[in-house]
Amino acid sequence: MTQEHAKAFRRRLLAWYRKERRDLPWRAMNDRAVNPYHVLLSEAMLQQTQVATVVPYFHRFIETFATVQDLADADEQQVLTLWQGLGYYRRARNLHAAAKMIVNAFNGEVPSTVEDLLKLPGVGKYTAGAIASIAHGAQAAVVDGNVERVFARLMLIQAPINAPATKKQLWAIAEDLVPKSSPGDYNQALMELGAMVCTPKLPKCFVCPVHEHCRGVAETNPETLPNKLAKKKPKAVTHLVIAAERNGKYLFEQRPSKGLWSNMWQLPTCEELVVSRRRSGGATQTINPSAARTAAANAEILDWFCDRFGLILEHPAQTADFTHQTTHRTIRFVVLQACVQSGRLKPKTGVWRKLNQLDDLPMSNPQRQAMQNLNVLPGSP
Ligand code: SF4
Repeated sequence: MTQEHAKAFRRRLLAWYRKERRDLPWRAMNDRAVNPYHVLLSEAMLQQTQVATVVPYFHRFIETFATVQDLADADEQQVLTLWQGLGYYRRARNLHAAAKMIVNAFNGEVPSTVEDLLKLPGVGKYTAGAIASIAHGAQAAVVDGNVERVFARLMLIQAPINAPATKKQLWAIAEDLVPKSSPGDYNQALMELGAMVCTPKLPKCFVCPVHEHCRGVAETNPETLPNKLAKKKPKAVTHLVIAAERNGKYLFEQRPSKGLWSNMWQLPTCEELVVSRRRSGGATQTINPSAARTAAANAEILDWFCDRFGLILEHPAQTADFTHQTTHRTIRFVVLQACVQSGRLKPKTGVWRKLNQLDDLPMSNPQRQAMQNLNVLPGSP
């Protein structure tokens, strides 16, 4: 794009944005001034998540944690509980750690430069550019999925947008185009164009404010862009969930502090290929949760459960079987339900809770789904 073209492109894009932008609670518009903490929070929530899903979570967060200091002072379990349902829980942990760093290293102020923002946990090049430009008016570029698609179409980029060389090219274009004046509005305008007009399947080129700058619509069918390299197929795994009930209460355990859904709570769950020590004889044995649910396979699971929690279960019944997709895994959840026959819960292995007393235990969506299918047993809530 020549300088003249770039100028006209930005002018048209900004004029359209100022007229058509959505009224989002973290956006500076009408009487609302920009709040860097709100920008940081919204950017953390919007990664991998739709705006409509984020809005109620955003409101709940700022009602509970009105300032960065409030968030920094919060307990991690409280943060995870409020985040519950939004998924990708690492974002919540990083946000919490970022709030602590802002309080301890930046005097409670969200940093204003890309360099300082990149020091915060969970903040990458895109988020740093978004916060610096939107919250502080710094001339910093952004490239997210929307911007990638818009640029691929505008500039007729045929190379796969997820190839490292193309990513570099897209960042160079973004850095070249971002203006000194109103960089935050300009960046939001680009992303808004991708979200509202230059959409993945049916771009609305007939109402597009930058239609006349677009090589994609002039020279090809823009819907065919962008091209992408095929992603690696997610790994298929099985999680075997055991809903163990005693006197109307169910057993819950906390997940390890590292890995998927770390520190969150769940019904006891046996993941792929757990090595267990059998009660009889002490020999080690491998448990495969994806094995067909034969009596022998169930007996092995009961042994695993007994080793881990010190409780002997009655014969289990299967209550659910569903699939949950994460970025890298397709997880099949098989839910077994059983009453505790005898035994004493080993110390620090879990807690007993009624199903209506779980508000303070953060849990993943598939674990909540597993509970929805439980058959209410005598004495249960
Ligand atoms: Fe996207 Fe169509 Fe606008 Fe080009 S003209 S930027 S393809 S919406």
